[in-house]
Order: sequence, then C-alpha cells, then structure tokens
Amino acid sequence: MTVLRSGVATDIGRARDSNEDRASAGDNLFAVADGMGGHVGGEVAARVAVETLEKAYERNPTIAGLREAFVAANAAIWAESLRVDELRGMGTTLTAAGLTVGTDGRDVMCLANVGDSRAYLMSGGMVRQVTADHSLAEERVRHGEMTEAEAETHPHRHILTRALGVGPDVDVDLWELHVKSGDRLLLCSDGLTNEVNVDQISQVLHSVKDPRKAARALVDRANAHGGNDNVTVVVVDVLVGEDGTAEPSIVSSVKMPGAAAMTDASPAEPATGHVLTVPPPAAPQRNPSAAAVAPPTNGAGSDVFVASPITADVRTLPPPEYRPPPKEVASQPTETRRQRRRRMGVPRRITVRVILFFLLILAVPAGGIAVVRWYSMDNWYVTLDHGHLAVYQGRQGGFLGFKPRLLDLTGVTTTEVLPFRLPVLRQTVNEPSLKAGERYIANLHEEFIAQQDATPLGSE
Ligand code: MN
Repeated sequence: MTVLRSGVATDIGRARDSNEDRASAGDNLFAVADGMGGHVGGEVAARVAVETLEKAYERNPTIAGLREAFVAANAAIWAESLRVDELRGMGTTLTAAGLTVGTDGRDVMCLANVGDSRAYLMSGGMVRQVTADHSLAEERVRHGEMTEAEAETHPHRHILTRALGVGPDVDVDLWELHVKSGDRLLLCSDGLTNEVNVDQISQVLHSVKDPRKAARALVDRANAHGGNDNVTVVVVDVLVGEDGTAEPSIVSSVKMPGAAAMTDASPAEPATGHVLTVPPPAAPQRNPSAAAVAPPTNGAGSDVFVASPITADVRTLPPPEYRPPPKEVASQPTETRRQRRRRMGVPRRITVRVILFFLLILAVPAGGIAVVRWYSMDNWYVTLDHGHLAVYQGRQGGFLGFKPRLLDLTGVTTTEVLPFRLPVLRQTVNEPSLKAGERYIANLHEEFIAQQDATPLGSE
C-alpha cells in the first residue's frame, strides 16, 4: 500500500496579467497544465484539460486509463476551440502522475506528458528529470543538433512541438515510476524551470520537508529570479510504499504500439529502464494487471514532430499577435513564409522586376502627358476678353484637354487701340512669352495715344 502526501503552489508571476497555469492534486492523481491561447484561451484549455483528466482517470485509474484521459482531454479542448471562435488555437501542456497498480502487480506511479511542463523524481539522493520537453529546442538537443546550454537561451525554447488540444489527435509520452518510501515527485510548469536551475530545485527538494512548503519555496524562487511566467509546482511525497533502499527507483518508459518513439529521449533516464507496451486505445485494458507485457521494442528516435498530425492543424492557429509572447505551438518554427514559398516552388508575388514593369507602364503615359502639357502650354497669345486686351498662356481653344490660362487681363480696352488692330486681336496674336504679350499690348496702347495726340494737329 502506498500513501501519498502532496503540496501545491501556483502563482501568476511578476510579468503576466493572468495565470494560465492550472494544478490538480487529489488523493491519487496530480497534474500541472500550462495553457496557451489569446484572451481566455489559455485558461480555458488548462481548466478543460485538468477537469477532463480528473474525471477520466477516476473512471479508469490505470496507465492505459491515464493515456485515455489525455486523449479525452485533447478531444475536449479541440472540440471547444472549434466551437468558440475566440478560443480557436488554444492549447495546453499537461503533465500528470497517477497512483495505480503496475504491470508487476505492485503500486506504481504512472506518468504522462505532453508539452514542456516537467516531472522530476527525487529518489536515492538524486533528482532526475523524467519527462522530455516537447519543445523545438529540446528536440534539437536530443537529436544532437544543439547543446543543453544553447537550448536554455535559444529563441525556440518556448515553441512547443506537441500540445494538448491543438489537433484532433495527440501523442502521449508515458512512464511507470516504481516509487518507494522517501521518493518525492515534482511536477512543474516551465515558469519554474526557466527561472531556477535543476541544482537549486534539487536543493529545495532535499531541504524543505513539508511538500506544501517545498512547493511554495520553489514558486518563491522562480519569482525571485524574475518571475517572467506563471509558475506552478506540485510536490508529491511517497510516505509509505516499497521499502526504501539506497538505490534510485526504477523509471520505465511505456510505449504504445505504433506510437512514435520517445523512449531514448529522456536525458536522465537510467540504463535500468525497460520498455513496456500497453494496448492501443482501440482495445483498452480495464484490468491493470492484465496489461499486456510485450517484448521491449526499442524505438529509434524518429522525428515525431514532422509526422505528427499536429503539424497540419497548427497552421490554422491564429497569428502570433493573437497572444502575448512566450509559449506557442510550432507552426513554421524555423522558416519564414518567404523561405517556405521558395522551398515549395511558389514564386514571390512581388519582385523588383514586377515593380519596374509597372513603373514603366505608368511612365509611358506620364511622359506622353508631360509632352502634351509642355506643347500646349509653351505658347502665349494676346486676344480680347470682355472688351479688354488680355494675355493667355496655352493654345487657343485648348489642346488635348489643356485649356488656356488667363494670365493678364489688362486695363487697355478695345476703345484704346487703333480700330484697324481689332480684327487681328479678335483672332489671336501669338507671342513667345507673357512679357512679350504685355509689351505688345503696351505698344498698341502707345500707338493709339500717339495717334490721339497727333490727330488734333493733323486735323487742323
Ligand atoms: Mn509557462
């Protein structure tokens, strides 16, 4: 018989305006969910995940039941996100541990994980990470493409390669922990692990005996180190169980047939770990002791993310601005849209060549218009306007839409020029400039005045 005692602490942190984490701690089931999705999406996803998990695991408290509970939670979140527009794209991590009867008939903790919330097991004086983050950076570490140190500061460390509720199906990592008295299990959201390193986590777990105080102490550490995210911690102590020995408890990765291999992924997994196989979801085993034990299947570390149905669905996620920074599910994590188009052979729509082509198309008529305008306006003429002599710029009657412009309506009237000049003025007299036109009018006027002055003398 195994007795568990737990402590829970969750905090909004020092940078966020809502807590999208959610914790659960019952008698035999413990969970941490870290929701994501704009507005209320993250909170809803985490809440639906935990509530669905609790109900489902109560109906079937086995390792197969835990996996089914994850599948049910995934389906519930997915359905809700399709039903409510503003919840579209929401998702959550979920890390859960349940007390059950192991495949050997003894009490074990079964553990399931999707996302980058983590489970650590303190046993035999050491603390080791059991879960393997489903984040882009951590998967690269596992594939040897990046060091752990690089991953800690990598911009892709918050991009999830798996999450609950972002697609119709989900791949769940499973373990059996053969815990014994004195063991301590830690479940936490990334708000803890991004702020507090494993040495400090280990130090708190070893030094603070009360699980509630330990959980609180870890949350306080995260806040003291910046508190950039919501922080949630569940500490579970095994008080009475298998007799404690000096050896760390055995952790076994549990695989479903056909599921993508993640067994060799956990960096801290002991060599003693063995692989079990439980029945596929189509034929769930109600009786845990009857859970089929198949020969170990040593899965190669295939690329789960690429083959996962999640990838197809995350493309429908809202754009990044839908939610403030950190956690997001990998959609096109490493490629820009342009790079993807290039890879897929889709030509860029707007190229320099296209722009030049349109500029040329526009330049031709623009040039034509300029020429016409220059021709039509590069002319001045003198004519009569309401009994006055006037200078116009342009072509009389207009040219291709460019109308002549009145520049100078002079005070010289038709009665102030010699009558024989009028027929020509009624036509038009072209001049090379405004000045020339005005001089011409002035001359006509002077000619008239000279005639007036001369006439009395001449008429005598
Ligand atoms: Mn988080």
